[in-house]
Amino acid sequence: MDRNSRILISGAGIAGLTAALWLHRAGFRPTIVEKAPDIRVHGFIISLSHHSYHLAEEMGILDDLIELNNRVRNSSYHDRTGRPILKLDYDRLFDGVSIVQIMRDDLQNVLYDHARHCADYMFSNSIAKIEPAGEEVFVTFEDGQEGVYDLVIGADGLHSVVRELAFSKDEITEHFMGLHAAAFRCENLLDLTHKYEAYLEPQRHTAVYTTRTNELSAIFIWADKNPAVPPPGEARLSHLSDVYRGAIPQVRKLIDTRHPDHGIFMDALIQIEMKKWSKGRVVLVGDAAHSLTLLSGQGASIAFAGASALAKAIADMPADEALAHYENTIRPIISEVQPTVRKNARWYVPGGLGFHLLRDCTMRFLPNEIWIRYFKSKYSKA
Ligand SMILES: Cc1cc2nc3c(=O)[nH]c(=O)nc-3n(C[C@H](O)[C@H](O)[C@H](O)COP(=O)(O)OP(=O)(O)OC[C@H]3O[C@@H](n4cnc5c(N)ncnc54)[C@H](O)[C@@H]3O)c2cc1C
Repeated sequence: MDRNSRILISGAGIAGLTAALWLHRAGFRPTIVEKAPDIRVHGFIISLSHHSYHLAEEMGILDDLIELNNRVRNSSYHDRTGRPILKLDYDRLFDGVSIVQIMRDDLQNVLYDHARHCADYMFSNSIAKIEPAGEEVFVTFEDGQEGVYDLVIGADGLHSVVRELAFSKDEITEHFMGLHAAAFRCENLLDLTHKYEAYLEPQRHTAVYTTRTNELSAIFIWADKNPAVPPPGEARLSHLSDVYRGAIPQVRKLIDTRHPDHGIFMDALIQIEMKKWSKGRVVLVGDAAHSLTLLSGQGASIAFAGASALAKAIADMPADEALAHYENTIRPIISEVQPTVRKNARWYVPGGLGFHLLRDCTMRFLPNEIWIRYFKSKYSKA
């Protein structure tokens, strides 16, 4: 595309900042509109692996990311009595895998440090209206401003407003996985050292891991067939506490020590499936296009790879060709990962007690080599 093209990116998350960085390197100056007043600093662990790892290297940010590495060295999975049923050593687990595991806000901050001067930013704003007009797009923002763009990139996450405004309902399939998740960060209440621990109880899966600053990050996943939106901020702790009634002591401690005023991330686990990620001069990338859910462990890595592929194609090709090239590059990965994640969801939170016990037996008795092979393959997709 022409270097003077007017490109609008909705969302300054992982995909949005990555696209801005590559576009700026190629001579573009995009505009970014971000709903939050500043770069969002939600923190849970994410990984850049395989292709994304090497893209980070090419981008020149890999050393910064390695410096902020989470430093988790081993993991253990515990059954409903707290007994360990599987232990994995990360040196063996990731031997030969190009991977860096960091907190999402650390990645976000590194990207923003590098992308700060690459784009014009509009914080605390959002797109209110999108009107396609031939090879241009008219955009009205929530604050009343208007703009005309040659390309609008929707990098605004699972609940993308670009997807909602530019695509019709029958172009979007939402797969609710019958699971909900919550996450928060707290002090190291469990005295873990460089550790990932998971507690597998019927209908509930909880994971905690240490951060590089010796905090704990906790993720709670539970079965609930109701896809309703999560309760408002102040009601989330009591909802989580109800869901986790009778949980094992480590998990109860995390919840009971939480102050109701401290924020909790909470959402239903939903995958987004679309037959096409672009329409005219509007294109979706990252979770907006193909949310995988946190069960994939690959959402950030693939958002990073997708945004890189899109921006590079925009730099090298005319618009229509670029959008098709981007989609042809990333869609095969998504077509493989999305159904696998749906299938594996029942391993994270099995439906009935029988399957729960079978899963625990499998974890206890299968040789570690098989789990190592599974994780290596999982982190070799993007
Ligand atoms: C609890 C949890 C744990 C996770 N664990 C992992 C993991 O272990 N490994 C992994 O790879 N992935 C993990 N993920 C998934 C990963 O975080 C996402 O896949 C990834 O962040 C997607 O990047 P994105 O840029 O597409 O969207 P996001 O990172 O969600 O960024 C979207 C951006 O758009 C902004 N925005 C939203 N709406 C608007 C609007 N209307 N207008 C303007 N801006 C808007 C948001 O504020 C945000 O800045 C996890 C997710 C969660 C919730």
